[in-house]
Amino acid sequence: MRKLLLLFVLFAFALAKETILVSIAPQSFFVQQIARGAVDVVTLVPPGASPATYSLRPSQLVAIKRAKIYLTIGVPFEKAQMERIKSANPALPIVDSTKYIRKVPMQAHHHHAEHNQEHEDLDPHVWLAPNLAIELARTTLEALITLEPTKAEEFLHNYQNLVAKIAAIDAKIYAMILRSKHKAFLVYHPSFGYFARSYGLVQLAIESEGKEPKMQELARLIQKAKKLDIKTIFIEPQFPKRSAKFLAVKLGAKIEVIDPLAPDWDENILKVARAIAGD
Ligand SMILES: [Zn+2]
Repeated sequence: MRKLLLLFVLFAFALAKETILVSIAPQSFFVQQIARGAVDVVTLVPPGASPATYSLRPSQLVAIKRAKIYLTIGVPFEKAQMERIKSANPALPIVDSTKYIRKVPMQAHHHHAEHNQEHEDLDPHVWLAPNLAIELARTTLEALITLEPTKAEEFLHNYQNLVAKIAAIDAKIYAMILRSKHKAFLVYHPSFGYFARSYGLVQLAIESEGKEPKMQELARLIQKAKKLDIKTIFIEPQFPKRSAKFLAVKLGAKIEVIDPLAPDWDENILKVARAIAGD
């Protein structure tokens, strides 16, 4: 009985809050940092799933129906599933969280007639560069104020703390990279293009056109990686490991996992930076 009552209280409590939808886990970090529990945040692409290929489960439509705003970030999942989201909740306002960011074409991504659908043209991985994360915090703040206007002051205060935190992380990473002799890194999927640009690094990617590379491309990559003295190969949990393993043997390099989609954005971006800097 007591358990039931507790459940009821929790349920009523949950119902009282507005729901905000985001596509990927790192976005939920920015929402939580600013909202501090004032809203419910629902991440559409679950842990371990690829934001390029994930398809919504019918059970997720309940949260989509309940949602009051959807903060997009430009991952391919959104375009593919947008019709389903809109038909579940036709009145749902859809806000582009990257509206203050100028995206650039995917680095290390070749353009051929037969273009893959994985990334369209522009690099969506903006959340992996702290300077751009500040812009995401801004659009997140705006969405939250739209949702809960009476809490605007509180959100603004939390936003300022978040920006200070991100700026401190940025300075820390910059110092780390500055001291490091590693100025280039090799990664399976080119998730870290904006990160590389922010800190003057060179990103080499194994993946080619969204697929595992051919032998000829691997041979070229080995040459480049040797020239840049690359001794670590980074892989992301969402992608295949076969060619990374092959390259590791050829280069005498070790393999390390870095996650572009971890929900604890602050800890994770420092972990990524430490791995890349060899710190
Ligand atoms: Zn990606």
